[in-house]
Amino acid sequence: MSLLKVMIDHAEAEYPRECCGLILGVGDRIETIEPMQNVWSGEVEHSLRDRYAIDPGEMLGVMKRSRDQGLDIIGIYHSHPDHPALPSECDRAAAWPQYRYVILSVERGKVVDWRVWVLEGEVFVAIDFGDFKNETTRL
Ligand SMILES: [Zn+2]
Repeated sequence: MSLLKVMIDHAEAEYPRECCGLILGVGDRIETIEPMQNVWSGEVEHSLRDRYAIDPGEMLGVMKRSRDQGLDIIGIYHSHPDHPALPSECDRAAAWPQYRYVILSVERGKVVDWRVWVLEGEVFVAIDFGDFKNETTRL
């Protein structure tokens, strides 16, 4: 199964909650996907429908395991239930420049769009899939 399919299946399974996970690879090349639990429990006016959070301890665990395999965390994916695949202000505020961000738009339980974003300075820029479009990410 392609890694893109793994992200899509995860996003559809979690609908109407946001899903999230880590993208592991070397440089720009995706090697594997690590679906994570959305542990968001913040502000009351938001919910798992429009926020996500990855447990820092779990993230550290994945980071250590992947390093043993020669892989780094190169990106983070999450879904936008019933919203376009555009980064929110919250996504921007939480973004790290060294990661690529895959956002999947899920409408009524089906992924209808997905885009890759990278932070350049203070703004998110949509990027070509580039090496994200390698064999493993093809549908
Ligand atoms: Zn988002």
